[in-house]
Amino acid sequence: MVSLKSIKLDSINNAKRIVLKVGSALIVNPKTGKINASWVQSLVKDILFLLNKDKEILIVSSGAIALGKSELNLQNKSLKLSEKQATAATGQILLAKAWKSIFEEVNIKCGQILVGHSDLETRRNAMNTRATMNTLLKLNVIPIINENDTVATLEIRYGDNDQLAARISQLVEADVLILLSDIDGLYSEDPKNSPEAKFIKEINNITSEIENMAKNTQSDIASGGMITKIKAAKIATTAGCDVIIAHGKNKNSLLKLISGGKHSIFKANMSPYNAKKKWILSKRNKLKFVKIDRGAENALISGKSLLAAGIESSSNSFNRGEIVDILSKTDKLLGCGIIAYDSEEINIIAGKKSTEIKEALGYKGRDEAIHRNDMVIN
Ligand code: GLU
Repeated sequence: MVSLKSIKLDSINNAKRIVLKVGSALIVNPKTGKINASWVQSLVKDILFLLNKDKEILIVSSGAIALGKSELNLQNKSLKLSEKQATAATGQILLAKAWKSIFEEVNIKCGQILVGHSDLETRRNAMNTRATMNTLLKLNVIPIINENDTVATLEIRYGDNDQLAARISQLVEADVLILLSDIDGLYSEDPKNSPEAKFIKEINNITSEIENMAKNTQSDIASGGMITKIKAAKIATTAGCDVIIAHGKNKNSLLKLISGGKHSIFKANMSPYNAKKKWILSKRNKLKFVKIDRGAENALISGKSLLAAGIESSSNSFNRGEIVDILSKTDKLLGCGIIAYDSEEINIIAGKKSTEIKEALGYKGRDEAIHRNDMVIN
C-alpha cells in the first residue's frame, strides 16, 4: 500500500483536468473474462485521492468487448463485426454496472458516455459532447467514456481507446492523459524480445525515430499496442496535453505513478489554452463572420462572451462549430471564435436577448453565441 500526502509528478500536480484511460487487460481478468473488481476498487480509491486534490477526472474505459465475450461464451471464437457489436452491447452494461457500483461505495456519481467517430469528428456534435462532459464535471459526476462499439462501422471507428482518449483529451482541453495499460512505457525496442531495449522516460518531440520504436506490443485482450499509444500522444500533445504511459496491472498503480513511479511522459510544448488558440486561428476563414455592436465590442474587451443580443448581422455561410471572424460595426477585425449557432439561426436571433432565443428558434440554444473560452481576441 502506497501512502502519499502530495503529488510528486509535476505534470499531474499542475493539472486541473485529467483523462485516465484504462485498458481491457486491466479491468477484465484475462483468465475469467469477468470484471477485476478488487483492482477497480483500488483504482477508484486512487482516483478519490486526486479528486480530493481538486482534480477533475474523466475515465475512458475499455472492456466492453472482453466482458461481452465471456458473458456470451465467445472467448475462443474470432468474431464477425456483428458478433463483436453484440458482445460490446452485452459487455457495456456489465462495464457500466461495475463502475457505478464501485464508485457508489465511495459516494461518487458517474455518468456513461458512449461516443462514435462522428460525435467527435463532426464539429457540431463534438460541441454537444464537450458541453455534456463539462456539465457532468461541474456536477461532480465522473464521465465514464467508451466508443459506441454497438453501432460503429468498421471503416468509421477509432477501434482503440488510446486514440479515443486522446480525442477526448483534446475536446475537453485536458492537461494530462494517463494511459494505464499492461506496458510500463516506451522502449527503444520491444523489451520482450530484446534485452538491449532502453527505456525512454521523457519525449519532448515525437520524431520518426520515436515512432519507429513503437513495435506492436499487442496484449491478449486489448486493442491498443504501442503504435496506438504513439498516435494518441501525437494527437494529445498537439492539443497541449501531456501524455503518460504507465503500467497499471497492480493495485494502486495510479497512486504509485503519482508518487513518482515508473512511466514515460510525452510532454506537450504549449498549454491546452494556447494550443486551442492556435487551432482557432488556423481555421479562420474571412468569408465567415458576425458583425457586432459597440456594447458587445466593449463586453469582449472586458473579457466577456459574445451574446446574440450584441450581433447585428452575419455572413450566410457557417455551421455551428465553425470558426467565424468577429467584426466591429466599422469592419474592424476584433477576433474570431467557435460559433454556437448556424448562420440561419444567427439571422433569426441577432439582437435578441438570451431569454428570447427559445421563442425565436423554437428551442433553447446556448446563451453565448461565442463563448469566451472559444474565442481569440486581437
Ligand atoms: N471499445 C473497446 C471495448 O470496450 C475497447 C477498445 C480498446 O481496447 O482500445 O471493448
